[in-house]
Amino acid sequence: MRIYLDHNATTPVDSTVIEAMDHALRNCFGNPSSVHAYGQTAKAALDGGRAAVAELLNAQPSEILFTGSGTEADNLALRGLAAAVQPGTKNHLIATAIEHEAVLNTLKALNRTGWTTSLLPVDETGTVDPTSLEQAITDDTALVSVMHANNEIGTIQPISELATIAHQHGALFHTDAVQTAGKYPIDVATLGVDLLSISAHKFNGPKGVGALWVRRGTRLIPEMTGGGQEKNRRAGTENVPAIVGLGVAARLAKKAVEHQSKVTAKLRDDLESGILSVVSDTFINGSSNRVPNTTNISFTGVEAESLLIALDLAGIAVSTGSACSSGTLEPSHVLKAMGLSTHRAQNSIRFSLGLNNTETEIVRTIQTLPTLVHKLRALSRTGS
Ligand code: PLP
Repeated sequence: MRIYLDHNATTPVDSTVIEAMDHALRNCFGNPSSVHAYGQTAKAALDGGRAAVAELLNAQPSEILFTGSGTEADNLALRGLAAAVQPGTKNHLIATAIEHEAVLNTLKALNRTGWTTSLLPVDETGTVDPTSLEQAITDDTALVSVMHANNEIGTIQPISELATIAHQHGALFHTDAVQTAGKYPIDVATLGVDLLSISAHKFNGPKGVGALWVRRGTRLIPEMTGGGQEKNRRAGTENVPAIVGLGVAARLAKKAVEHQSKVTAKLRDDLESGILSVVSDTFINGSSNRVPNTTNISFTGVEAESLLIALDLAGIAVSTGSACSSGTLEPSHVLKAMGLSTHRAQNSIRFSLGLNNTETEIVRTIQTLPTLVHKLRALSRTGS
């Protein structure tokens, strides 16, 4: 039995999504910008996807803009907004220290072009204190970007409170909701944000397609120039089958939220308490206010990368909170920002559950861990 517990990295594509994409590939090959019947069939498929995404977010279809990924949606939000700001007016952007690289590296790139940037700190649970935004924001701030939930620890941020503060200072607000769609309710009206990014492959849709919700009336300069697709905001012939897949996944995701909050949350809690009771010196990283599928656990004295490999050999797929670059294990920027020691950050494993995980899989994972951890701890004690 192989067990997949890495759904925050990506999810299996739902069979209904595959069928709908297969149908679209065969039957909706026309260019949605063409006026003839073939084009209009493809356009109707596109519109269906747009309506489904809008429904998932409680938004208007005309506010949905399709992109090639969650990364592109984040880029378009930040760069598109920055480009729309009149030169010589606002010149400051704010995000948090725990954003995904799609936001952090975009902010760095904008900083190199003259924008001033600030990163808000988080507390030991990975939560942003609205007071820190109050302190960082100025009348020069054009945009605040805070992720809805973090990909490594699952902590949910007080988005509506933060968005209110941004608006009080004349700034717009973007949230990267890539890790909440299908796991947690999303309602753009309640959140009070101006832009919101999602990505299909995180909720049982295909890879390489995402969407940016842009509140009506928000000025955005396109990053991709060319034809007039997506209301002149994202040039390039739309990937119709992928967008159809995104639409079907969005419809399923809306229904999945309830399953996640009951079934997945229970499995995650069982996994968490099971691990904590059978493996000594283990600690949960993050807040109790989390998406229901995620737990991040530090195993003292165990290099997370070694445990990941051992688990993989045992048929269990998880992820580490560390990024392995050029042979050195860099502790996760998220765990570091939460004030965790380098050791504890390097000892951390992320388990992220999905809709198909079962009680049996959770029991098997809990039973597998003690022996592996014991072996790795013994090895690290002998220094071999
Ligand atoms: N934002 C967050 C929070 C993510 O977790 C991810 C993917 O891991 C992305 C953005 C990027 O999405 P995509 O893989 O569609 O580019």
